[in-house]
Amino acid sequence: MDILRLDLGTINVVDDPWPVHGFVVLHESLGPVLVDTGCGGPDGLLRQYRVVNRRVADALAAHSLSPADVRLVVNTHLHFDHCGQNPAFPHARMLVQRRERERVQRDEPDIEEWLTTAGVKFELVDGDVELADGLRIVATPGHTSGHQCVIASTPHGSDLFVGDAAMRRSVWDSPTPHNLPPLQAADLDSWQSSLQRLRALTPDRVHFCHDAAT
Ligand SMILES: [Zn+2]
Repeated sequence: MDILRLDLGTINVVDDPWPVHGFVVLHESLGPVLVDTGCGGPDGLLRQYRVVNRRVADALAAHSLSPADVRLVVNTHLHFDHCGQNPAFPHARMLVQRRERERVQRDEPDIEEWLTTAGVKFELVDGDVELADGLRIVATPGHTSGHQCVIASTPHGSDLFVGDAAMRRSVWDSPTPHNLPPLQAADLDSWQSSLQRLRALTPDRVHFCHDAAT
């Protein structure tokens, strides 16, 4: 099960440039599985975060893949920098937590309208899900109420795709509120419980969406 990191551009959070990553897990039965699709969505958000975007098709092409090769997409959550290029995968199953979908329908009308206009269709899941041999979703609420992570396990160890449960290595290493950038936990208690649960799994490698470190 090889893993590819897609470099999908940069967002600016206040004046701090954050890289944006998606990840491809090359699973032997599912084929290429994409975890998070990068930036897109309402123009106001793209302007606000001064997005420098790289098309997911270009990032996949660097690995001799195309969007058509991806049959399964998992969104850790539905912020614009994690689901923004979902419309490039209309043929793929697209998995998100039901609570996350409902959160956006309830609280984020601009993203909801954008998803609807783009015709994005999700397959909703509840809690932890075994996707296939060695590949599973774990529900990790906190950053958003419906956040989820993906874990790939092989004889060579386990890989955690942590999404925004820990946006960078320093937060993973020291998961305390004072070490958390602003607006990174919609619910602080849930965020801390989720991160404790993930750390207790002792993954061999952690892949960050907003940090070049692993
Ligand atoms: Zn987020």
